[in-house]
Amino acid sequence: MTLQPWQKHSWQQLQDYITQDRVPQALLISGDKGLGKVQLATQFANSLLCINPTKDAVNCGCCTSCHLLKAHTHPDLIKISPEEVGKNITINQIRQLVSLLSLKPQFDRYRVVILHPAEQLNNASANAFLKYLEEPTERTILILVTDSASRLPATILSRCQKLSISKPDKLTTINWLRNLNPKLTGTEAEVLHQLSLGSPFEAHHYDITNMISTRNDCFNAWLDIAQRSQHPIVIAENWNKLTDAPLLFWITTWVVDMIRCKHQAPTKLLYNPDLQKSLSSLVKSTNIKEIYKLYDLILNCRLKIDTQINKQSMFEEILITWLEISKGNV
Ligand SMILES: [Zn+2]
Repeated sequence: MTLQPWQKHSWQQLQDYITQDRVPQALLISGDKGLGKVQLATQFANSLLCINPTKDAVNCGCCTSCHLLKAHTHPDLIKISPEEVGKNITINQIRQLVSLLSLKPQFDRYRVVILHPAEQLNNASANAFLKYLEEPTERTILILVTDSASRLPATILSRCQKLSISKPDKLTTINWLRNLNPKLTGTEAEVLHQLSLGSPFEAHHYDITNMISTRNDCFNAWLDIAQRSQHPIVIAENWNKLTDAPLLFWITTWVVDMIRCKHQAPTKLLYNPDLQKSLSSLVKSTNIKEIYKLYDLILNCRLKIDTQINKQSMFEEILITWLEISKGNV
């Protein structure tokens, strides 16, 4: 079992539930994306299901239960997620779950349900789930995992014991990233930390997928528009193809950083500390009021991003506005 530095405290709480014999029937694990909440939930489930856990409530790794868990075939561990990424957990899924839970667990330990992401329960499925929570079956532990607890109905929240995972501090993340990839410089690790908003697994994912180099290419295109050497329509078309890159978020960080540079904010407060020189130079040739207008436009786009918005037109609108307000003398 590999625990990350920022998970240790939460893991201790989970161990205490078992060793002090006060395992909650419903547990909500919440916290930002990229902190390994599902990993913790799974580890807790392993400890609950193991036949011979250690006295610290760690699974033994060699009993029948542990073997079944390793093979992902343990009958008393049930995982519920949307059938398609981004879709809801349906009422049918919950009905099937409830009917399964009406049977006795196969082993004489617990039975564990991990429901993730819990905020994907829609009204109907949340109601069906709540009904079960009001009269749960014996030895059944429900673990709900969510990035946005505030989107869950208060009726469900009030029935769960809560465990919230916090982000580690910047230095912990930077050291952790550099430990995983010793070639990373301190500045690169800092940029990864900033652009992932401090979520270590997200930062590591950015690292292994070379996201910083993609961001650099995109930022160079942003500079090219200011210098009139590339056309917004062409760039928008290219950006629309980069489906994995969080481009709207990156554009937001450039604009916010430009505003911060205008107010002479220290480098450590920037999302893109490595781009400070270029950002400061861009801001010198751009009117601050116009930058705020661009910022408003971007905030509006962010509100619409999860709808059926045409992303290419959205990028065109942002980039044409950027072309108009940048003075072309960078
Ligand atoms: Zn075991």
